[in-house]
Amino acid sequence: MTLKLYNSLTRSLEPFAPIHKGTGKDGKDEARVYTCGPTVYAYQHIGNMRAFIFADTLGRTLRWNGYDLTHIINITDVGHLTSDADAGEDKMEKAAAAQAKSIWDIAAHYTQAFRRDVRRLNITEPAEWTVATDYVPQMIEFAKAIEKDCYRLDGGLYFDVSRVPDYGSLARAATDDGESRIDPVSGKRNPQDFAIWRASPPGEQRQMEWDSPWGRGAPGWHLECSVMSHARLGHPFDIHTGGIDHREIHHPNEIAQNQAYCACSDPGARIWMHNNFLVDRGGKMSKSTGQFLTLQVLVDAGVHPLAYRLMCLQAHYRSELEFTWESLGAALTRLKRLVGTVEKLRERFDAEPRGSLETPEVDEAKAAVGDDLNTARALVLLEQVAGGKGHAGDRFTAVRKIDRALGLRLAMVTREELRLRPANAAIDEAVIEARLAERREARAAKDFARSDAIRDELAASGVEVMDGDALGWDWRLDL
Ligand code: AMP
Ligand code: ZN
Repeated sequence: MTLKLYNSLTRSLEPFAPIHKGTGKDGKDEARVYTCGPTVYAYQHIGNMRAFIFADTLGRTLRWNGYDLTHIINITDVGHLTSDADAGEDKMEKAAAAQAKSIWDIAAHYTQAFRRDVRRLNITEPAEWTVATDYVPQMIEFAKAIEKDCYRLDGGLYFDVSRVPDYGSLARAATDDGESRIDPVSGKRNPQDFAIWRASPPGEQRQMEWDSPWGRGAPGWHLECSVMSHARLGHPFDIHTGGIDHREIHHPNEIAQNQAYCACSDPGARIWMHNNFLVDRGGKMSKSTGQFLTLQVLVDAGVHPLAYRLMCLQAHYRSELEFTWESLGAALTRLKRLVGTVEKLRERFDAEPRGSLETPEVDEAKAAVGDDLNTARALVLLEQVAGGKGHAGDRFTAVRKIDRALGLRLAMVTREELRLRPANAAIDEAVIEARLAERREARAAKDFARSDAIRDELAASGVEVMDGDALGWDWRLDL
């Protein structure tokens, strides 16, 4: 069974063939993956988190296929400007000024918040979170090595994209969106030329700046990823991931830098993979416009983070995914149902453990995720085996195997954990329990009218009563 992945460079599915053979743990072949990480000037919205759920699914799939994974995700704490193409202000400096805090405090706060969301979504920790400001000396060395392909302007050191073969081939046709994101800087040789080093404006002190052969200043954002991937994974490495927006500017620029550095046409990574956007009815989610959904907003509404993970897995990573509260609510219901089924399987597994290797759904699910991460299909197979026939112990073992690729923690999470109380719920647990006790009495006395009335009354307060469920009640999304 070969693992096939969609390579944005060739716009086609390609079999995965690792570069580093036998270098992994226990002599395994190694898979080296770099993921463009968050810019920590604000909370990550759930669209951003889709990018990390996708990268995690890729990592899990590589592991399932027997590779030893070395995954690097960076934390951008300097250099990302309000425009991807080197114009506007530094996002970090801007956020620090607006909140009257030091950049370091801003970075620490949002990094911590991001890592918390990573844990809540059960995203596997990478081998290293490379922090951009830790790599500035290496960035200066890298910039020196490609200086021959750069020129100086008042704003700093600029990369001349005509110096590399086939600049921008990853982006293919320039789109209006891509074009409009390139801001004119006077003196640029080509409109797509970008800053490698951004000199601090004369007379102005930035909170974050370093000495360099090109004056005091800060590294360009694109430089960071080339340097950190190169430092940790070498050249070339296997797979580079990021959101689809990076296919237009950021990744073509990384490729150009990598080519200049090696003085060859190698793009630096063999496979470039991009997840499509999570959108809402208003269009693309954006941190800069201020209106965005964080994982905490979902939790406050009573939705468990793993329901969002499941919602992402129901779609293919290359498709746009529209966020609605209804679809999120449906994902939560699907997750609860699945967890309920698996809980029962687990009880029977504990009583009579067994784990047959011959559950065909497991092989089918492996083939599905191995086919460019078809998680939607794997999820259906998982449900089939969980709710199917056959020995409960075998089925429980099969569920665990498939879930290792999906990361829904199905063997661990309980229905009770999934029941989150909405932050602004008007009714508390004690009241619910008291009303439910009354309802049990009414039912025992065969007073079904009264039992239904209590049920309706609770429903009006957002409390759904689930007969047959051990807990007997659940919060309902009513947003
Ligand atoms: P940023 O913090 O802006 O550098 O973004 C972190 C990651 O999220 C990048 O890989 C982006 O391409 C990705 N991303 C940004 N917006 C979305 C979205 N709405 N849906 C999916 N991925 C996104
Ligand atoms: Zn990057």
